[in-house]
Amino acid sequence: MTNLSIENSKKTALGSDLGNDANNRIESLLNSLSLAQKIGQLNLIPIEGKPTSEHHALIAEGKVGSVLKSNGAAQNRALQEIAVSNGQVPLLFQEDVIHGYKTITPVPLAEAASWDLDLIQSSAAVAAREAAASGLHLTYAPMVDVSRDPRWGRILEGAGEDPFLGSLIAERRVLGFQATNTLQTENVLATVKHFAGYGAALAGRDYNIQDISERELREIHLPPFKAAIDAGVSSIMLAYTAYDGTPLTCNEFLVQDVLKGELGFQGLVMTDWETIPNLIKIGVAEDLKQATLMAISNNVDMDMTSNAYTLHLKALLDEDKISLDIIDESVRRVLRLKYTVGLFDDPYLYFDEQRETNELLKTENKQTALALSRKSMVLLENKNGILPLDSSNSNLTKIAVIGPFAKTKADLNGWWFAEGNPEDTISVFEGLDTALAGKIKLSYAQGVSIDKFTQSGADLIPEAIKTAEEADIAVVVLGEEYWMSGEGGGTASLHLPGLQEQLLEAIAFTGTPVVTVIVSGRPYVLTDIAKNSNALLQAWMPGTMGGKAVADILLGEYNPAGRLPVTFPYHSGQVPIYYNYKRTSHTFDAGENDLRYSTTYRDVQSEPLYCFGFGLSYSKFEYSNLRLSSQSMTLDSSIIVSVDVKNVSERQGIETVQLYIRDEVASVSRPFKELKDFAQVLLLPEQQQTIEFVIASDKLGFIGKNLSTVVENGEFTVFVGSDSSTNESLQFRLS
Ligand code: BGC
Repeated sequence: MTNLSIENSKKTALGSDLGNDANNRIESLLNSLSLAQKIGQLNLIPIEGKPTSEHHALIAEGKVGSVLKSNGAAQNRALQEIAVSNGQVPLLFQEDVIHGYKTITPVPLAEAASWDLDLIQSSAAVAAREAAASGLHLTYAPMVDVSRDPRWGRILEGAGEDPFLGSLIAERRVLGFQATNTLQTENVLATVKHFAGYGAALAGRDYNIQDISERELREIHLPPFKAAIDAGVSSIMLAYTAYDGTPLTCNEFLVQDVLKGELGFQGLVMTDWETIPNLIKIGVAEDLKQATLMAISNNVDMDMTSNAYTLHLKALLDEDKISLDIIDESVRRVLRLKYTVGLFDDPYLYFDEQRETNELLKTENKQTALALSRKSMVLLENKNGILPLDSSNSNLTKIAVIGPFAKTKADLNGWWFAEGNPEDTISVFEGLDTALAGKIKLSYAQGVSIDKFTQSGADLIPEAIKTAEEADIAVVVLGEEYWMSGEGGGTASLHLPGLQEQLLEAIAFTGTPVVTVIVSGRPYVLTDIAKNSNALLQAWMPGTMGGKAVADILLGEYNPAGRLPVTFPYHSGQVPIYYNYKRTSHTFDAGENDLRYSTTYRDVQSEPLYCFGFGLSYSKFEYSNLRLSSQSMTLDSSIIVSVDVKNVSERQGIETVQLYIRDEVASVSRPFKELKDFAQVLLLPEQQQTIEFVIASDKLGFIGKNLSTVVENGEFTVFVGSDSSTNESLQFRLS
């Protein structure tokens, strides 16, 4: 094994350590299977919509172990009956339940903006309950790929740019899916993905190479995987991509040395969609048979959709290219999962249609979705405190709701909406309409139509101008359609698609105050948008309850508390831009604002528009009295950092107090600052609270010269504040 840099994980994957009785049952089932049946267990096939007679035959013959996609409890039961009545091992049903199943919660990047770990866990638990009630055993989530490039469409599926926040969220999502609901049959097995480094796709083009150093891999991309594994995630999906020239499917360094060795993962390893044949496309295998050999030799257990194992494993065995042991080992890992979800005792446990009817879109589920929608939205501008709007003010009689996203629903649900139905989603217009029922008149204009690749749709602008002119306030809802982000959803320009910037400029020119709401799965360059808005709310793709959440925030029913989990660039050309950049010879000229993004550009500022951790509230918080319990510590001791935070406004609100650390001198260059802790506090008007953080040596370690974790003595600076630009700092020494 090379470079042991991550201590072995403490916990075991759900389903990997089941005890003697279970192991005996698994062994006896394994021994009873023919080779064809064993290979069938490794085969995962997609069934979209109604199954065909061919599907039925494959299941009856034991050539399928798992099915991708739930088509509801009834259909899954029918398929299970075919497996069971033909003496086959029961099927495991799997799907992408990424941010909700029928009740859609905000896209994961938005959820991360809540910085509310309990709520994120609850959201995953709701998704698990609904999915499990509809006949699913396993979800392909959480996606934990760290991304620092908003051009990459899949940035919306992860938790943003920071490995620390990303790791905490990865852990909670795993717990939420697998282990939060009381009954096993209300939980689903989780699959952490896409191992590893997929978020570093070059130039933000999906599936592109990830040409990153092993240092970056270890510092930035691996920590959330470790967190998910430590939380007991049952399975892992390998990325489409190649790391250092070798696709993950056959990357022994990453799968054998890092995943199984260093991270101690004992659960199931699956491919992504057809990644075995992709080895041919990438140019490392001559044909499917060779690709199959490479995958199974790397202990890739489950073949998603390519049929490579079904077609070639037997021949490889007959030719002595592989041993039966390696197949058995993979089958064992599949059977362990099947045992864990109760399939050995009752193959029909997850197919209870009554439960399905009761569970889907249950009030309680929608409440969780609403709580998270509200908490995930980030208030970016609020000039002269224009928000919240005061609906009892007699000067406010008419609100114009304008924009191509004011009435859309599917776009609020975002990419990976599982079984979510746009009709169940509350649009922004509906949210405002319901909240203002009768009190204030709403008018509507679409403003522009969206066509990503052309600048058409200007003919609607005059009507939008008129609508704005006739209103007291214009709420302008801009953004991107759901398919523009997500898998394959790369974008070269980070300006809102179509003529939306021009629309906003025209509306601002009317003089009617403008409140802009952004529906998007990624940070767009909002520089001109911000200039033309009196208030700006990043609403993301907020899910089923999104429109209500927007209304609650605009009307002051809810005081915004979201914080950016990702940097919002000032200009597209700054990308990649992130807060925890490494220091260079020309960065260390810290001024009033402690954010100097490495040298400067001649044409635009070097700072982003909105930094990591940023978000406004209707309350105002003041920090004072930052102090340390001591100026020095040792490896075995700790320091307490305290700060007093006071709500100096008349509104109760939530503040996210953030702690960053900089290692002043180390054997390798360290980031300018790194998030190491945070606390969310609800403060009543005029209430003050002391927030304490403990710094022990685990917060000071880093990947040293030899690529393993080290802690080095020396000077550290600790920063505390309301976002990553904070300059409030003190120093201490580790000796
Ligand atoms: C995606 C995965 C997803 C799988 C199954 C792939 O294309 O990369 O994230 O889980 O499809 O839908």
